[in-house]
Amino acid sequence: MLYNSTRNSELKVSAAQAITQGISVEGGLFVPEELPKLNDADFEQLIDKSYVERAIVILAKFLTDFSDVEIRYCAENAYTDKKFKSNHIAELSCLLDGTYMLELWHGPTCAFKDMALQILPYLLTTSAKKVAKGKKIVILVATSGDTGKAALEGFKDVPDTQILVFYPEDGVSAMQKRQMTTQEGKNVAVSAIEGNFDDAQTGVKQIFTDPKIVAKLAENNMMFSSANSINWGRLLPQIVYYISTYCELVKDEEIAMGDLVNVVVPTGNFGNILAAYYAKKMGVPIGKLICASNANNVLTDFIKTGTYNKIRDFHTTISPSMDILISSNLERLLYDLCGRDDKKITEWFRQLGETGRYTVDAHVMEKLSESFFAGCCDDEQTKETIKKIFDQYSYLCDTHTAVAVKVAQDYKQETGDDRKMIIVSTASPYKFAPSVLSAVAGQAAEDDYEQLDQLEELSKLEIPKALADLKDKEVRFTGSVKKENMEQVVLAMLGLA
Ligand SMILES: *Cc1c(COP(=O)(O)O)cnc(C)c1O
Repeated sequence: MLYNSTRNSELKVSAAQAITQGISVEGGLFVPEELPKLNDADFEQLIDKSYVERAIVILAKFLTDFSDVEIRYCAENAYTDKKFKSNHIAELSCLLDGTYMLELWHGPTCAFKDMALQILPYLLTTSAKKVAKGKKIVILVATSGDTGKAALEGFKDVPDTQILVFYPEDGVSAMQKRQMTTQEGKNVAVSAIEGNFDDAQTGVKQIFTDPKIVAKLAENNMMFSSANSINWGRLLPQIVYYISTYCELVKDEEIAMGDLVNVVVPTGNFGNILAAYYAKKMGVPIGKLICASNANNVLTDFIKTGTYNKIRDFHTTISPSMDILISSNLERLLYDLCGRDDKKITEWFRQLGETGRYTVDAHVMEKLSESFFAGCCDDEQTKETIKKIFDQYSYLCDTHTAVAVKVAQDYKQETGDDRKMIIVSTASPYKFAPSVLSAVAGQAAEDDYEQLDQLEELSKLEIPKALADLKDKEVRFTGSVKKENMEQVVLAMLGLA
């Protein structure tokens, strides 16, 4: 299987090349030429397997330039109960009303990003061996909070890699910040930027594609790659859990093979929900894909109207990992919906860069509405939802997941569609303890670690060890830079300044 760029359909690269490079030279994103289709026999075979074995089968369909041994090596090292709570990897919890909560946060950093970032370092180093022999891979990350930590944890002390994470100074939770600034490892660095996530992401994309910097790295036998969901190696592992979860529900006789289920995803950069769309296209019986946003509801408006308009106020919310106005992966969806018309995509994204907006044509709009529904809620509604779900079902969800729960309820009410729903739960409530506590108990202790105890008492859920242990860790990274100066930080870290 080969991969095209969303801005150049003529381009054809191998999976290893796409994963190593991260983003295409003209700024487009890599997508598979064609999605493999799963038939009845494939599903039958997958249903009886474990998560890791399902992952191996699915990855092999996309990574045709990897050997079976390499794929097994990547999957088995990532998806073990040494790193995740159990061999289920993607845990399912069923609420009393029949809703399935797909808990993707039982990995080492307590957010769903681990599902992809535990395996990405293996995929990337295996890829780099094929296409970039001997080069050091420099991973630049822009994070709204969770990707940064998950990427640091995945790449720490991985030979021949170096990782640098930028996070918005005032845009992450106290726990997220502490997770990053205490990161251990010899090849890691972390810097705050004075700006929001979009500034960080735009800055990183600019550095990636700046010919001068790229040449400087090449002279020193280094190359950039990305651990953000613009990298195909991030998206692919996310497709796995949608396929696996459907199989798991069939295996548990919760649904019959072929039953349609709706999937609700709390969305920021559009990576997670795009993976669900790809799973649907591959043949997983998914009905509607429900895109849930917080007060930064640029996607809600887009899905309802067909006009993407990023010129609007940026809100700092209690679900910071979704505080995004430029959702990168939407580009991949639109490329698919417009029939892989690279000219159209290039034009729309040129308009987005220059005017802050673009409008898709009626045909794309029609296809978009066929598969997607969108809704949003504000912080007040998010908190009300956390409380309501806790009171009704003794189930505690984090601030991001609560946005999805609220939009799921709104969707049911608005459409009367009562198909079974999978709500994607993207973070442990402990990661956002102050907001969760204020929602359910009305108040939170001052101290970050007392908050964890308070939440444990209330919920009877065990505090994740990774978070409790932060208390005794030394803060290693305290720097903050202006967004214009990100480039200098990168060069300084690499010793090229
Ligand atoms: C990253 C993140 C999201 C948004 O996921 P996207 O793939 O960017 O849409 C939602 N919730 C949490 C907790 C996250 O960390």
